[in-house]
Amino acid sequence: MQFLNTFTPDLVIESPGRINLIGEHTDYNMGYVLPTAIEKKIIFEFQKNGSDSECNVYSKGFNVGFQLDLNELSKSEIEWENYILGVLNEISKRTDKVNGFNCTIQSNLPAGSGLSSSAALECGLAFGLNELFDLGLSKIDIVQLSQIAEHTYAGTQCGIMDQFASVMSETGKVILLDCKTLESKMIPITLDPYTLILLNTRVSHNLATSEYNVRKNECEQGVEVIKQYFPEVTSLRDVSEKMLLHCKPHLNEIVYKRCSFIVAENQRVLEVAAALESNDLTKVGALLYEAHEGISSQYEVSCPESDFLVAVAKTDANVLGARQTGGGFGGCTLNIVHREAVASFIEMATKEYKEKFDIELEAFEVRPSRGTKVAGLEVR
Ligand code: ADP
Ligand code: MG
Repeated sequence: MQFLNTFTPDLVIESPGRINLIGEHTDYNMGYVLPTAIEKKIIFEFQKNGSDSECNVYSKGFNVGFQLDLNELSKSEIEWENYILGVLNEISKRTDKVNGFNCTIQSNLPAGSGLSSSAALECGLAFGLNELFDLGLSKIDIVQLSQIAEHTYAGTQCGIMDQFASVMSETGKVILLDCKTLESKMIPITLDPYTLILLNTRVSHNLATSEYNVRKNECEQGVEVIKQYFPEVTSLRDVSEKMLLHCKPHLNEIVYKRCSFIVAENQRVLEVAAALESNDLTKVGALLYEAHEGISSQYEVSCPESDFLVAVAKTDANVLGARQTGGGFGGCTLNIVHREAVASFIEMATKEYKEKFDIELEAFEVRPSRGTKVAGLEVR
């Protein structure tokens, strides 16, 4: 793209990916989650280009860019462009202060690996334009408009967790977020002598978007039935195990399984948060394993590769717990591993994974990190 020849950015934004310690698929059921941003991120460079409405966006990693006109926003045939266009569309509903800009995107955050590169992309763009054009959006505005952009342009009916974690996280903490009220509590996480290791299956089964929406729909079907017996229920967040059992005869088998996962998963989030506060890492680990069991057999959003890696983790006494993290069907497993055993665990998992699937595992440590920020400024 031509603008790259003379590009001198006015503003650099760091927009991180996230992990979720526990609470999978609970966000769109108005429940609890426990995410944090990680050090892997997308870096945006911005420059106003003096034009009224012409914008250029270039992804360095994908080696491709596109031009757009702010006055003619519509969905694209090209998937990644929709994350950009969707955000611009949402911003245009709130303000007309955005003018022409050029922007490059550089990332060390693997895309489609359950670390939410999509939210990093949306929120980084919104955060950057807010700074560049002084739009007056609050952080929660940025979170919410990015979530809506993912619904309308990218086509995933996601909850609020990914965008919230990418923007709001703080170093050394996980966020206990109530997705119903958006109340959040920062919980310090000190895992020492353990640490968090991600194993990237490097598979991303293409079911992710379609099945995501199917799961959301199945949960809504559950709520419709449960409501007939408990009229106060508006989401699975309001449902206890006892209420669910009461309704079991009226729910089809699949819908029951989905609901029963969500109800138990919500409970697990609160238990993990309490265990972190009392420094009971063994309990945290056990709950991670339990969650994966639910992800795999009840919610059915795992895959053979993730199941295999969690099973491998279970054979190593230096691993306290493991589960697939993210929307599902591949991506990364999150493992709580003793510091001194990290190398041997990664070596074993890499070897066994290669033998089983003939895929080179990618493994890295992650640390709870700060949310979206202007690069170079530590406190804003
Ligand atoms: P996840 O959010 O778990 O990474 P998604 O499927 O929700 O997975 O989002 C991944 C999509 O985000 C990619 O397919 C691509 O469209 C977009 N994306 C991620 N990183 C980049 C990048 N560096 N440049 C352009 N698009 C990207
Ligand atoms: Mg995503």
